[in-house]
Amino acid sequence: MTNDPILAGVVGSPIAHSLSPLIHGEWLRRAGINGRYDAIEIEPGYEPFKIGMDELRRRGFRGVNVTLPHKENALQYADAAAPVAKQAGAANTLIFEDASVKALNTDVSGFTTSLKQAGIELGEVKNSTVLGAGGAARGVVAALACSGRGAVTIFNRTKEKAEAIAALYENVTAQDWDRCPRALLKTDLLVNTTSLGMTSNPALEIDIADLPRSAAVADIVYAPLETSLLRAAKERGLKVVDGLDMLMHQAAPGFEAWFGSKPVIDNELRELLVTELERRKQ
Ligand code: NAP
Repeated sequence: MTNDPILAGVVGSPIAHSLSPLIHGEWLRRAGINGRYDAIEIEPGYEPFKIGMDELRRRGFRGVNVTLPHKENALQYADAAAPVAKQAGAANTLIFEDASVKALNTDVSGFTTSLKQAGIELGEVKNSTVLGAGGAARGVVAALACSGRGAVTIFNRTKEKAEAIAALYENVTAQDWDRCPRALLKTDLLVNTTSLGMTSNPALEIDIADLPRSAAVADIVYAPLETSLLRAAKERGLKVVDGLDMLMHQAAPGFEAWFGSKPVIDNELRELLVTELERRKQ
């Protein structure tokens, strides 16, 4: 019998701002598990990622969450991947087993659940517009393209990245960033997956006046919690979904796999995160 803590963490660059240690730390505390969840900086590039993962496995980590810019590296590093991670072409959760590594993409289920909780069923969404084509967009588009029956249009500053995602699906197309305003007229669900609007980043400048009254708007940026996009949508009386529910829900499968306990996602956890975001604003 050993008293060593169970180890897991989140890797990315930058990583200091991550809320994941707070989420997992709270779940460890609640469950009384002798565990540790660290934020670990790994510089961009596949080689540094591979070296970092090899080292964490050597140190006995059970696995990691993976955030920007490593979600595609995580899929490449894994020996096996859940079908949804393969489809998305990105992974945000790695489970280290004795001799192999398994990749999951829980952004997909996290995003789907956050919409469901706001009363939005993906199967009923006809036209979705996605802003951005980074690592997180891969999960969001997988959710929209596979669970939804409608069309998905991606707008990204670097169009080639949107095209690379669109090529994975029959019902997804890529468009030039500056054509976005015209697409809003027919949009039922608008999702921002860019890092625009995030604290210390430039604002997302978009006029949503043309969105239909029945449209919903989701912003996966959670710092600040109410982005200017969500504020504008609320002012128009549209249904809005912030990024915090997705963040909590994407975290749960990793926790269960590494620490062997099913975590509870509740208002208390959300309030803890909201308080931390408020504290950081000061
Ligand atoms: P990423 O891979 O770095 O992608 C960033 C995206 O933002 C790209 O599409 C990029 O366009 C676009 N972008 C950045 N600066 C821009 C600018 N000045 N003008 C136009 N577009 C710009 O990041 P990510 O991992 O996808 O994360 C994106 C955001 O989602 C972050 O704020 C992150 O915190 C958030 N997120 C939230 C959750 C959650 O659970 N709520 C989960 C994951 C991520 P280019 O391709 O042209 O560079």
